[in-house]
Amino acid sequence: MDIKKVMVVGAGQMGSGIAQVCAAAGYEVVLHDINEEAVEKGLSRIKKQLQRQVDKERIEQKDMDNTVNNLATSVDLSNAANVDIVIEAAVENMEVKKDLFAQLDEIAPDHAILATNTSSLPITEIAAATNRPEKVIGMHFMNPVPVMKLVEVIRGLATSQEVFEAVEAMSASLKKTSVEVQDFPGFVSNRVLMPMINEAIYTVYEGVASPEDVDEVMKLGMNHPMGPLTLADFIGLDTCLYIMEVLHEGFGDDKYRPCPLLRKYVSAGWLGKKSGRGFYTYE
Ligand code: NAD
Repeated sequence: MDIKKVMVVGAGQMGSGIAQVCAAAGYEVVLHDINEEAVEKGLSRIKKQLQRQVDKERIEQKDMDNTVNNLATSVDLSNAANVDIVIEAAVENMEVKKDLFAQLDEIAPDHAILATNTSSLPITEIAAATNRPEKVIGMHFMNPVPVMKLVEVIRGLATSQEVFEAVEAMSASLKKTSVEVQDFPGFVSNRVLMPMINEAIYTVYEGVASPEDVDEVMKLGMNHPMGPLTLADFIGLDTCLYIMEVLHEGFGDDKYRPCPLLRKYVSAGWLGKKSGRGFYTYE
């Protein structure tokens, strides 16, 4: 399966990063969002990121120019009519994704792969909104995309071997390491990470230790680059709660119950770094 032209749907934090690494690897990329303002914001985020790399002499000016030249923008989904793969990175909402995939299924050529960067929604359910479930797959990049090496490649129930191999090869061409994952709640990354964060919150909730000390134990004792509560603040406590609820509901197992302190912070609007306060306070 020859992939040359890519559409990235959603020009936010993740979509712009995905478009950037695809364009840098030589793919022809169409970056799509719902309006001009959103696409332009995505494009200027990419240019800023590339300029920083030029300034630090990690890439040359001509690399930046080539990457930018490989990028086009779109606010019309019908531009998916001549792409080989769509990578969807719109908001984390099942109805939005199902609606997008149903439309893309109508528009994109028969051979096109429809991938989603969802961090928690079932690939199999998204695939069921199309008539090509064998060509629907999860491509879960990590944030920030240009820096992080991993892509979880998630097989939906019907994903074909050919599509899986094409996405694995594409991930390698983006200089990412891919890991094969089956479609179960949280995949691997969030299934392992979120219960650890939730347990760290329980240790604070039960008065076992302060947030600073919990983070210190995990940094110095376990060699984690960042403590779990600092990481939770970066991810967003609302996102952490949402993913714990996906795990709790998806497995029906109370070992995934979200800590009451996490719920309390989220209902107070203490969402972590983005709101200025979480387990720590931010300027
Ligand atoms: P974001 O809010 O930064 O960007 C989402 C973008 O999607 C916005 O620009 C929005 O205008 C656009 N959008 C919304 N509805 C759309 C539609 N119908 N068509 C086209 N564009 C639409 O969000 P993000 O952090 O980039 O997350 C995007 C996806 O990536 C989500 O599914 C999220 O779960 C997943 N993800 C996020 C992270 C992370 O750390 N932020 C990591 C891995 C995966």
